Amino acid sequence: MNKYLQSCAITIASIASISGTAAIAAGESGEYVNEIAPNVYSYSPGNGYHSMFVVTEEGVAVFETVNSQHSTSMLEVIQDITDQPVVYGFQTHNHWDHASGGAVLQSDGAETVMHRQAAEWLEANPGRDTSPPDIVWSGGRHDIELGGVTIEHHYLGLNHGLGMTVFVVPELEVAYIGDLVTPNRVMFNIVPDFNIGEWERSLGEILELNFETAVCSHSELPAGEVENGCTKEHVAEERAYIQDLRGAIFAEFEKGTPASEIPTSIELPQYAHWAHYDDWLAMNAQRVLLDLWMGPYPWVPEEPAE
Ligand SMILES: [Zn+2]
Repeated sequence: MNKYLQSCAITIASIASISGTAAIAAGESGEYVNEIAPNVYSYSPGNGYHSMFVVTEEGVAVFETVNSQHSTSMLEVIQDITDQPVVYGFQTHNHWDHASGGAVLQSDGAETVMHRQAAEWLEANPGRDTSPPDIVWSGGRHDIELGGVTIEHHYLGLNHGLGMTVFVVPELEVAYIGDLVTPNRVMFNIVPDFNIGEWERSLGEILELNFETAVCSHSELPAGEVENGCTKEHVAEERAYIQDLRGAIFAEFEKGTPASEIPTSIELPQYAHWAHYDDWLAMNAQRVLLDLWMGPYPWVPEEPAE
């Protein structure tokens, strides 16, 4: 970690501990930490990835380790807020850009946790900065109790990557959502490793979960809002975007637009203010078009019930 980032992290943590709840601070690096609910913090070092951590009397639970640099900065911020050790590092899914960095917490005594499907993929496809998890669970639901709260693990079926888990702490009405909901941004690039229909279905299930505020891994909300996390309104907007994009493609089919011209013909002005509308909309449309043409992909057999 460079010295600037280190001093920045300490400054931010100091501000957070001095001003108590709902402290917001952002350094020039874009790093911030914010208490979104009692003892629940959103955190980003300014790299486009947002983590969450929950401080309890039996230790700290971290959600999304991202990579070693990210986890190292986060650990320093946590250690300036509490003397409690990090006991769990929860990882949402298999992709290297989310599931790396766990070794930083493991070497500090924490256990990392992921779904069986993600663990099997990472065993077969280890990344430069990934490490085998300490706790692997399977099926659709798993819970861990920590310091008087329940950390619910929800595997909602296929949607993005493998073993994608939405974490909910119902007593605190908070959730952690990786990749499935990105406020204020169109779908990611070429929409890699998303099953569009299953994603849409999963968003409906997320709306039924017991939370008020979530940290969304790639939120593009403006500074000042992003620190406060995302809400079910953003979950509903993500689903509406999928539906509106598919509707726009069908409208082009009906007009007789040649398939090769459809991606660049689509316009969704109601989302024009979202990040990457100009550079990713046509890529999003191309991907959804292929899904409609070839059938849904990727696909794997359903996770057996426990
Ligand atoms: Zn991913």
